[in-house]
Amino acid sequence: MDDQTKARSSTATLVAQALGAHDPVTKATVPPIHMATTYLRDADNGYSAGYVYGRNDNATVQHAESLIAALERAEEALLFGSGMAAATTAILALDRPTHVIASKVMYWGFRSWLREAGHYGHSVSFVETSDLDAVRAAIRPGETGLFWIETPSNPLWTVTDIAAIAEISHQVDAILCVDSTIATPVFTKPLSLGADIVMHSATKYLNGHDDVIAGALATARQGELWSRIRKMRAQLGGAPGPFEAWLLTRGMRTLDVRVRQQARSAAWLAEHLVGHPAVSAVLYPGLANHAGHDVALRQMIGGFGGMFSIRIKKGDKAAIAVAAGVALWKRATSLGGVESLIEHRASIEGLGSPCPGDLLRFSVGLENTEELYFDLSRALAVAA
Ligand code: PLP
Repeated sequence: MDDQTKARSSTATLVAQALGAHDPVTKATVPPIHMATTYLRDADNGYSAGYVYGRNDNATVQHAESLIAALERAEEALLFGSGMAAATTAILALDRPTHVIASKVMYWGFRSWLREAGHYGHSVSFVETSDLDAVRAAIRPGETGLFWIETPSNPLWTVTDIAAIAEISHQVDAILCVDSTIATPVFTKPLSLGADIVMHSATKYLNGHDDVIAGALATARQGELWSRIRKMRAQLGGAPGPFEAWLLTRGMRTLDVRVRQQARSAAWLAEHLVGHPAVSAVLYPGLANHAGHDVALRQMIGGFGGMFSIRIKKGDKAAIAVAAGVALWKRATSLGGVESLIEHRASIEGLGSPCPGDLLRFSVGLENTEELYFDLSRALAVAA
């Protein structure tokens, strides 16, 4: 796909054709997996194809990166062996001790790691980033260099205003990174809203089939931090293997249609669970009474994502009993795959988690929506 076609193509078209890549040798419509770890030198000792060694250079990895860059309207994207590898590399690549302002509610694994960022000379303030006054109050002039927000954020689905935080961060010459795993490039393009770097756990919706662990960063523009991220990934061997990258590209081909259906299903389920006698709250940005609904309407175009949570009136034990009572929903961690998952988050998040004990998190897959509802209703009846 040439640059002009890429620039005017929708997400649906970009992913379906995976940028139109094919094998130039056989004309196969599906590109091959490049497994080589090393490449031939030319007689003049050069590397005319531009590939030297597999830790840095792999065409299959680069193909997935080009697709993610096109989806995010980014200048460049880099793949990593996991979402955690992507996120931690962005922090480790900071060149001086930095004060980081991060969302209080976010993926617990990265929050735990950030809590220990002092080991690397950085300090982190966890702030309710949906509250812009709280964000402004947390700024330490001359020290705050990075804002890290996750929106909608796991597992309360708090919505942070990306454009507003971009403005605040740029006023103090700081960089804004957005974990957009849940929104996906189908519904939100953080770089177009002013963010500098967007991050994905590609393990989730981008791949979509629960069979690849991968992460991605994509940048709005080249810069010092981005150069250090690229160098660090190459030096530490942070890129995924070619087979994972190929599977990821294959998964992304159906991203648009999957994620739109998952969001439709999640919205239907959330609406039908409101007022259920066993449920004290339904947390979903698509609901009009959700605190972040107005911001979500502005920055999530076409859908509010495939994740929602509910709180069980009778408390923690009843919530665990509901998870035990379902048959279709799978009791498992993670999200964004074709199978629907249910999880009692407090059990996994541990100390310091803002997640209430009566909360159940749902990742809506591609099963029949009403069958998912009836399965959950049966389990909820026990807790009513
Ligand atoms: N960000 C979010 C929002 C996540 O849900 C996760 C994983 O659950 C991660 C980052 C970490 O990604 P990975 O598991 O691919 O390292």
